[in-house]
Amino acid sequence: MKIIDILKNKRVTLSFEVFPPKTADAVPTALAAAEAIAALHPDFMSVTYGAGGGTSDFTVHIASAVKKTYGVEVMPHLTCLSSTKEKVTETLQDYKEAGFETIMALRGDVPADGTRKNDFEHATDLMKQIKSFDSSMALGGACYPEGHPESPSLAADIENIRRKVDAGAQFLSTQMFFDNSLFYSYLNRLHAAGIDVPVLAGIMPITNKRILTRSLAMSGTAVPARYIAMVDAYGDSPEAMKQAGIAYATEQILDLYANGVRNVHVFAMNKPDVAKAISENIRPVLDYLNSK
Ligand code: FAD
Repeated sequence: MKIIDILKNKRVTLSFEVFPPKTADAVPTALAAAEAIAALHPDFMSVTYGAGGGTSDFTVHIASAVKKTYGVEVMPHLTCLSSTKEKVTETLQDYKEAGFETIMALRGDVPADGTRKNDFEHATDLMKQIKSFDSSMALGGACYPEGHPESPSLAADIENIRRKVDAGAQFLSTQMFFDNSLFYSYLNRLHAAGIDVPVLAGIMPITNKRILTRSLAMSGTAVPARYIAMVDAYGDSPEAMKQAGIAYATEQILDLYANGVRNVHVFAMNKPDVAKAISENIRPVLDYLNSK
């Protein structure tokens, strides 16, 4: 089933993202985490793609296992900046053979040393190649409530989102955010620009100090003062920080659904215990809203 059909068929959804390992010896651990998260019966899952493409086999392997074993629909990601047209075609063939019907099509970050291949400039170039490979393949695209770090302005960024939708993105999935009001203003801007595809709200439960520092360095996401206070107070206790991160993410998600947001995508960071706690907190709300 295509992800867009899942989004259309239910009033609210909760889905999880997992990532592939960097090395073959870590595959069993990543697979066990992905399967434990799939056992929570999310509406669907996504599996990220290593920027350089060197771990693409792991993405296919993990995504296929989850789909086959648990019947959970999976959307693999695909990046292009550090890839070639040939490598992309090879991966698309693997995705098609594995039965994936939706791909999250991304550019990928510019590598730290600046090296890149020259076959693709932007995510929309990848979207065009996917559509010419198989026009029935459905697409999702990334969006940035606080603007992409390379964009000169939020307005310029929103013009790029329009290009993604024109290139076939049926829905968007956001960068993480910790302040829901920024997401609500972003939705207003998208609607004002006439962009009305579903937008998955990306929620990152910060369950240790290290994740916060690393994630923020990559995304430039604003952290509210109350989040910083929480990390200052509990950051040195793994268990206290984990519970605080779960509670903050839960509160964000409850507020999103209460304000009419329909689709929440949790960056589960391959942590089944965190995904389980959030899923259990939210399940009664999902069941209630979906029964109305
Ligand atoms: P693009 O859409 O190409 O945008 C990149 C920049 O170029 C933006 O500033 C945009 O405004 C600008 N731009 C785009 N088109 C034009 C144009 N025609 N003219 C001028 N400017 C333009 N990375 C991974 O490596 N693997 C993953 O699995 C992964 N998953 C992600 C999932 C989500 C939900 C998100 C939000 C990000 C993910 N990323 C992933 C990170 C992503 O690759 C980076 O954020 C990357 O820097 C931008 O990717 P993009 O697809 O948004 O690029």
